[in-house]
Parts: sequence; structure tokens; C-alpha cells
Amino acid sequence: MSSVDTAPDHSLVIAVDGTSGSGKSSTSRGVAERLGLRYLDTGAMFRAMTWWLLREGVDVHDVAAVAAAAGRPRIESGTDPQAPTITVDGRDVSVEIRSDEVNGAVSPVSAVPEVRARLLDLQREVIGDGGIVVEGRDIGSVVWPQAEVKVYLSADPDARAARRAAEEGGSDLATTQESLLARDRIDSGRATAPLTMAEGAVHVDSTHLSLLEVIDRIVGLAEAQAAQSGARGTRDGG
Ligand code: C5P
Repeated sequence: MSSVDTAPDHSLVIAVDGTSGSGKSSTSRGVAERLGLRYLDTGAMFRAMTWWLLREGVDVHDVAAVAAAAGRPRIESGTDPQAPTITVDGRDVSVEIRSDEVNGAVSPVSAVPEVRARLLDLQREVIGDGGIVVEGRDIGSVVWPQAEVKVYLSADPDARAARRAAEEGGSDLATTQESLLARDRIDSGRATAPLTMAEGAVHVDSTHLSLLEVIDRIVGLAEAQAAQSGARGTRDGG
């Protein structure tokens, strides 16, 4: 038997960042299930904030109004990868946050620093002692730069639009692609915590990979990391 343990330990944090529709959610859930970790969809938190602002009648393009309201909703995320949940003030909004209205408003809302600061606190609270796969745009760069495994997931726009349209039950491809690219532009161009490839991240292009292949690759990275820290522990007498 090897003296080096390759099973990821339960304080592990895996950060999965990337563009809209690159397959982050299915991949992250799959990795979490495979490794027995929790799962956090930070995009759902930004979407929940956006849904609540729209429902309250706040103008999502009025930065001061969004900033002033950002502290009010109680947003809670359930982290079971088989059944993740998202609630606002106790109400399940998992369906509502995927609407076209939220799709169109979420990136401007996410660019407001007060929104990011509020959700950053919540995200760090959920991550806690680790044992979790966290997906978003700024996890490896801002939320948890100390993550043991960082992945930057991308795919060609055509592949992303086709997957997203299929997920949404066959919505129009061109419209879906334009909506994804519009979000990418705002998410990459904003001043606070823009979408970038974090230092130390491994770039995985999923254009020509199946979901299973992407999951396998990330599980492999986590196992390699565990083997490395196990070897370090053995060397250090740990
Ligand atoms: O991941 P998803 O596409 O559901 O995210 C929706 C939006 O939330 C993104 O387009 C982005 O504007 C915002 N977001 C963010 N930072 C994160 C996660 C999501 O700004 N960590």
C-alpha cells in the first residue's frame, strides 16, 4: 500500500471560475458528488439578489439605489450537490432566478461593489472550514484565493450557447448566445472582482470534452493535490 494518501481531504476547497455557460454548474456538482464535498453556486446568490431587487421595484441600473438596498434581503444557499437550494427571505426562488428578466439584469447588479461585498461575506461564511466546490467568476481570485485547486473553465461561444439553449428547453440559439456574450462583456470589464483567470488556476477548455471528461479532469487535479500534500506531510513527518 502506498504511504501517500490520494483521497482529497475534507477541508479541500475547489474553485471553479469561468464564462457564462461554460458548464461550471454541472461540472462543479459532479465533482462535489464524486468527492463527497458540498457545492456552492455563487451565481445563484447574485441572481437571487437581482430577483429581489426587481421584485422590490429597484432600478437595477441605479447604482446608488442598488447599493442602498443590497443589505436587505436574506439570501441562503443549501449546499447539497444533489439538491442545491437558494432562498430569499425564506422563499425558494430556484426557478425565478433563471428568468430572462434576471438574465438581463444580473450583470449590472453584480458590478455594484456593495452587492459584491455583501455576498462575499455570505460566500466566505458558507465556505467556512472547506470541503466544498465553489463556482463563480472571482472565487480563485478574490473569494478564496487560498483554494487548493483552482480551475478556469471555458468553451467556445457556439458550444456554450448550444448547451444553455438545450438546458432552457430549446430557446433561440442566437438570442441565447448574445445574452451569454453580453454578460461576459460586463463581467470581464467591471472594476470590482472582474472575471479573470486566477493565479495558479488550471485552464480547462470544455468545447470538445464531455461533461464526464471535464469532471474526471478536475477530480484528477484534486487527487494530485492530495497526493502532493500527503507526500509533503510524510516528508515533514506528518
Ligand atoms: O453563474 P451564473 O451565470 O449563474 O452567474 C450569473 C451572474 O452572476 C454572472 O453573469 C455574473 O454577473 C454574476 N456572478 C458574479 N460573480 C460570481 C458569480 C456570478 O459576478 N462569483
